[in-house]
Amino acid sequence: MGKTCFVFGCKSGYRSSSDKQSMFKARNAAELSKWRIAIPRKDLKLTLKHYVCGKHFEEGDIVRGRFIGSDWYPYINPSLVNDALPTLHLGELVFNCHTNVKNIQLIHTFICC
Ligand SMILES: [Zn+2]
Repeated sequence: MGKTCFVFGCKSGYRSSSDKQSMFKARNAAELSKWRIAIPRKDLKLTLKHYVCGKHFEEGDIVRGRFIGSDWYPYINPSLVNDALPTLHLGELVFNCHTNVKNIQLIHTFICC
């Protein structure tokens, strides 16, 4: 089975998507718990086995290779900097005066992240 992105509505990793994205997993329990808060999803809980694609991270959080001298060597599998958090394209949190913290509705208005 291929790697698919955990973020609701995101098509990365699915066969219908021609977009090649790097896939990342939380590396430890501490990181996992931060990612869980960053990616609220009602139907599924993020685990260490789930992947989150590169679209949800700031470009600066993704290490895609390194310079050796003046030559750039891209990594086959890019990695994340420590403490990288998924922050982008996670859906819209809508708040109004009746919203309390336990009653946040996630509205996914995007088709593809
Ligand atoms: Zn994604």
